[in-house]
Amino acid sequence: MFFRNKPKKELRSPDYESGVQSFETALILISVGKYGAALVSFFSALEAFLSDEKSHIDGRDKRNFWEKMALFAEMHPKYQTEFERRSESTRNIKKEIYRVYQLRNQIIHSGHSSRHNQAAIEAILKELLPLIQIVYRALFDNELYENLVVEVREYLDISQFLAATQKPNGGDWFIALSPVIWGVQVYISPTFSPKYLYDSSGYQVDAGEQIQAALWSLNNMDEIGITCPICSEHSVAAKFGFNSEIKPFNLFFEEVTCVNCQLQIGSSSIGRALSSSLFDTFITQNEVRIIKECGLR
Ligand SMILES: [Zn+2]
Repeated sequence: MFFRNKPKKELRSPDYESGVQSFETALILISVGKYGAALVSFFSALEAFLSDEKSHIDGRDKRNFWEKMALFAEMHPKYQTEFERRSESTRNIKKEIYRVYQLRNQIIHSGHSSRHNQAAIEAILKELLPLIQIVYRALFDNELYENLVVEVREYLDISQFLAATQKPNGGDWFIALSPVIWGVQVYISPTFSPKYLYDSSGYQVDAGEQIQAALWSLNNMDEIGITCPICSEHSVAAKFGFNSEIKPFNLFFEEVTCVNCQLQIGSSSIGRALSSSLFDTFITQNEVRIIKECGLR
C-alpha cells in the first residue's frame, strides 16, 4: 500500500512481506490515533524483517525478538553509531529498546488504552522508527523510506526531524507525530477533506466557493489562500510573526489553519518548527514580499 519499491528478491528475509504489512498497518493505526497498537505492530515488522532462512521451522522463524536482535547486533556492531546518527541522540539503543519492549508487553497485556498514547508516540519517534530504518538498511541494502511512496515518506521525515531537533515533551509529542497522521490519512482516504465540502443537509457543494467563504470568515489572519501542504487546496490562512525587527527578520508562522482538511498549527516552538518545515517553499518564495508588507526592511 505505501511501498512502491522492494529490495531485490535475494536480499529479502523470508518473512519480508509480513514485515511490510506490519509496517503499513502501524502507519494506518497511527493515522486513526491508535498509537499503542501501532507500537506493537512496529515490533512485529522488526521481527519479520529480522527473520532468517536457517531458523525457519514450519514456515516461520520461531526465535523470539531478543534472539533475533542479539544476532543482528553481533553481525552489525556499528548499529549504536548508526542509531546516534539517525536519531541525533547518544542514548544506548539496546537499553532503550529493552524499555520500549516492556511498554509493548504492557500494552498487549493490559489492552489498548489511551493512557499509553504519549509514551507510545515518544518510543515510535525516538527509538522504533530509527531502529527499523537501521535494520532495513543493514539487511536489505535499501533505505526503507526510499521504498515508500513519496507522500508518506515526506511526513515521516518531518516527524522524525521534529522529534530529533525539537526535544518535545508532554503534548508536544502529538504535534511531532501529526505530519504522519495527516500524510497517511490523505493518502488512504480519497474523500479526505470533510468539513467545508458539504452543506448542512449533506449535499456536496462547490469546494472553491466554500473554501473562500470559510477563509473570509477567519478574521485577524495576515494571508489567506495559501496552498495546503496536506490537502493541496488553496485553503490555508496564516498569521505571520518575526523573531527580530532587524535583519535577519526570521519570518515564521504564528498560526496556521486549513479550512479544508483542518490542519491546525499553533505557535509553540515545536509548532513553529513544524510549520517552517511544511511551508518551507512558501516562506522562501514569499519572505521578501511579506517582510515589505509588514513594514520591515
Ligand atoms: Zn489542508
